[in-house]
Parts: sequence; C-alpha cells; structure tokens
Amino acid sequence: SFPLVQIRDLSVTYNTRLGPTSAVDKISFDIRRGEIMGLVGESGCGKSTLGKALLRMIMPPGYISGGQIIFNGENVMKFDEKRLRDYRGRQVSMIFQDPMTSLNPVQTVEQHLEEAIQVHEAETKTPYIIKRIQTLIERLGIMQSRLDSYPHQLSGGMRQRVMVGLGLVLNAGLIIADEATTSLDVIVEAKLVDQLREIRDEFGVSILAITHNIALVAEIADRVAVMYAGNLVELGDVNRIFDAPLHPYTQGLLASVPTTEINAKKELYKMPGEPPNLARPPSGCRFHPRCPAAMPICSRYRPALEEVAPGHWVHCWLYQDHPEKVEKTIKVA
Ligand code: SF4
Ligand code: MG
Repeated sequence: SFPLVQIRDLSVTYNTRLGPTSAVDKISFDIRRGEIMGLVGESGCGKSTLGKALLRMIMPPGYISGGQIIFNGENVMKFDEKRLRDYRGRQVSMIFQDPMTSLNPVQTVEQHLEEAIQVHEAETKTPYIIKRIQTLIERLGIMQSRLDSYPHQLSGGMRQRVMVGLGLVLNAGLIIADEATTSLDVIVEAKLVDQLREIRDEFGVSILAITHNIALVAEIADRVAVMYAGNLVELGDVNRIFDAPLHPYTQGLLASVPTTEINAKKELYKMPGEPPNLARPPSGCRFHPRCPAAMPICSRYRPALEEVAPGHWVHCWLYQDHPEKVEKTIKVA
C-alpha cells in the first residue's frame, strides 16, 4: 500500500528582518505505515519546523512556501479549517519535550482520556474503545491508581506516556514526537523508547521521532532522515546509515558522538565551523563551508537528492556525475 505520509518539495520560509529565511528547503520523503522514522540534525536545522509543517502549524511570520504533504492519499494543503482540526486532533498526534504545556492542569489522567473520546463521539463507548483504553493503560505502564492523578503529580516520563495514550485513544495514524525524551533521565528515556516500539508493533502506528540525539535514533528508528541547514542530506535504513554513512555531514555527526560502537575507541571528531544563518545560506551545497570533502562545484551548484543504492538517498556531489566534478577529478589525478 502507499505510504502514510508523502512529503514532496516541502519548503517553509520565515520573513525576518534579514529577509526571507528558508528554514525548510524543498524536502521530500515518505513515512511508511507502521514505521519509526528518525529525523535527526543539530538544533536549528529545521527539523521541528518540518514537524510543525506536517500539521500546518507554522505561525506567521513563517509560512509553507512550497511543496505538498499527502496524508493517507489526501492533500493536506487543501484541507479547510474543519478538516484541518480533525486531522490535527485525530489523525496525527504530536508529543513535545514538555507535555505539561499540552495537558490540562486541572484534569486527571482519566478525564483527559474520556475527553479525548468524547471529542470523537462517533467511535465512542463501543466495547472496542473501552478495550482499547484498557490495553493502552496497561501497555503504557500507567497504573490504574494513576488515573486519578493530575499532570503535576506525574513524573515527566509518565506525562509523556499519557500524551502517547491520548494520541492512540484517538486512533492516530501518526505520532510526531519532537525531542519527546530529551528532558527525561536516561533510564526513563530508555523505557519510553521501548514502549514506543511496543506501541508501534501493537497498534501499527507510524512514528516520526525528531531529535538531535543520533544515538537515540539508532535505538528507536527503522529509517533515518538527516537534516542540515534546512536540507535533507541523507535518508536510508538505520543500519545502513550507521554502518556506512555517505554524506560528509552524517559521517561527521556519527564520528562526533561517543555512543556508536564504531568509534568507541577513537578520538571524537569535532565538526569545524557553525551551522549557517539561514537568512544568508551558503550557495550550492549548504554544507560546503564546513565540509572536509568540498570540491569547487559544491559552492556553485546545489546537488540533487539521489538514490545511490535502493532506499539510500544522498544529497551530495560526491555521488553524482557532473562535468565539473569529472574535470576536477582529472586535474587532481
Ligand atoms: Fe561536501 Fe560537496 Fe558533498 Fe556538500 S556536495 S557535502 S560540500 S562534498
Ligand atoms: Mg527543535
């Protein structure tokens, strides 16, 4: 069957004092049914903006400046307000770093769950839904005794589980988790990661896990999309990306974290330079000022996102034929 989400040439622009700033620049990828897609990159690379764009929740002075989002075969860009509310409320569920802001402080866990159901009366109070809530509460490790608790009485990890539960009660097809585990301690984080995987297995939901933490992606994701300065630079199966990253940025990112087995014994790599100001992005490949493999063509033309092996996409001149690249290779030789 076709993918749950098809993102095509999606661009988001912010009007700033320095002029239009392209925070997300012509990004294309799919989120398949029942997969966990990791979206990774440094802070400010546009990954959260992309997550919000999927819900059409970009606020002025930002706007979606191009491209398409197809959800379950429907064009999200064409949704009217009513359809959009349903899409945001029921079909896609978003979990942020601090769920306190999304939970109602004066409602108990049980009231949250009940309310979520009432909003969608059509499907309510059927034995199926009741069974679903019970299964969820068990699966998520929310104790029966916690149902009467208010959000502030719960731990951060428990609040995240309630948020996940709310999404699943509504039968969401997609959960977008934006740095959802970042404020949790390591053990609670590991537990939530396990639970997200179990939930995916059990309910067949798709999860877009947005994070700066590449080690976390290795644990949770089936596929990985790497973003740099508003661009998608590499996309592929998690094992492939971790075993044989092709894009110089991905290579640098992996070499700079101590948690992958590959470089456990090696000295950590320090990526030179800083991410660019997106109001004045570097010409051509946006990574060229920091790239150890940059060639003359890199600052002049933007590479395409090319499929270099089945399912493995890379946005880099190293893997594309271009007359200037050939010329340079000849000169060097
Ligand atoms: Fe480096 Fe050039 Fe590839 Fe960009 S296109 S990542 S500058 S080699
Ligand atoms: Mg963010």
